Amino acid sequence: MKTIYLDHAATTSLDSRVLAAMLPYLKEEYGNADSRYSLGRKAAIAMRSARDKCMEILGGKGGNLYFTSCGSESNSWALKGVCAANLGKKDTIILSAIEHPSLLRAAEDMSVFGFKTVLVKPDSSGIVRAQSVKEALSGVSAAFVGVMRANNETGVIQPTEEIYSLCREAGVFYFCDCVQAAGSLPLSCSIADGISISAHKFYGPKGVGALWLKKSVHTERLISGGQQESGLRGGTSNVAGVVGMSAALSLARENLEKESAQIRAMRDEFVKRVLSSVPGSYLVGDSERRLPSNANIAFPGCRGEQIMINLDMLGVAVSTGSACSSGASKPSSVLLAMGLDESAAASCVRFTFGRDNTPEDVIYAAEAVKKAVAAVKN
Ligand code: PLP
Repeated sequence: MKTIYLDHAATTSLDSRVLAAMLPYLKEEYGNADSRYSLGRKAAIAMRSARDKCMEILGGKGGNLYFTSCGSESNSWALKGVCAANLGKKDTIILSAIEHPSLLRAAEDMSVFGFKTVLVKPDSSGIVRAQSVKEALSGVSAAFVGVMRANNETGVIQPTEEIYSLCREAGVFYFCDCVQAAGSLPLSCSIADGISISAHKFYGPKGVGALWLKKSVHTERLISGGQQESGLRGGTSNVAGVVGMSAALSLARENLEKESAQIRAMRDEFVKRVLSSVPGSYLVGDSERRLPSNANIAFPGCRGEQIMINLDMLGVAVSTGSACSSGASKPSSVLLAMGLDESAAASCVRFTFGRDNTPEDVIYAAEAVKKAVAAVKN
């Protein structure tokens, strides 16, 4: 049975053009980018041109781009590095309640150094209002504000421009997690003082991401060792990964408009079919301000996890936002923060469309959802 993959927010397949760009650096050109002979120099040249390409696509001129191993690393490093540089001067971290755990947990880790975390809730449509960030900023000495570009569960796009302007006025570092947005929305480093991306979310390889920081931002070293990444993150460079990420970013930029329109049309058709065939189902989160790929749908009276399992048996891969701890699953904290009650949050299923889906997939998947929900209800 063919799998219809509707979980592109979790990860994407590696584009064959990206693999082709990477292969030479896994085979013939396997040199260490820090070696002085020609094999090493070729690897160093590939690193430099990949960095230049990423900087050009992201409009990163006023800052530095550090290659990392993933979005989680970029996020944790940004938060811990910037807070460490402010130790003894500022003591508050402001995050939206819907940030990725790599920021939320990193903030918890900083409590041993005296940092307090203020969580800003989104409204019921999943939008973190600039006014709420403004209130959180008042009367505290903030070192770090983090509000993502687009949420991983609902796809809701945040008002980052307004938030950045507030932070600039308050003289506070603003970080924007762009892991879900990269590849789906036009992106520029100018939207924040720091941003993160991760290649596997836009048809690049797993194991490579990037952190961009404005030149004026001071951060602490992440990995002690060699002089890689300006001496801030030691360790032999992942040449093939970095080449793959820059190739994936180039393809995403080239095809963004056309691809987004196609994905949006498939997503909209799917939502229309599901909502009209499953009584009581509804779309969660703002219907306009969201990534073209995302449909998060509540199925009252059902558990999303059971729907997911039934869909898997029908050959459709989707996800729920529930987190597993000690074998029991808890409803998504993002959906709870938006004000859904536990049973509504536990009934949600996230469908995320991508480059490799077809209109036929939409018809099959919508029919499969109808069957999967009926099976759960029975
Ligand atoms: N930030 C967001 C919004 C994400 O959705 C994810 C992954 O799902 C991450 C960060 C972490 O990225 P990675 O899987 O590359 O560690």
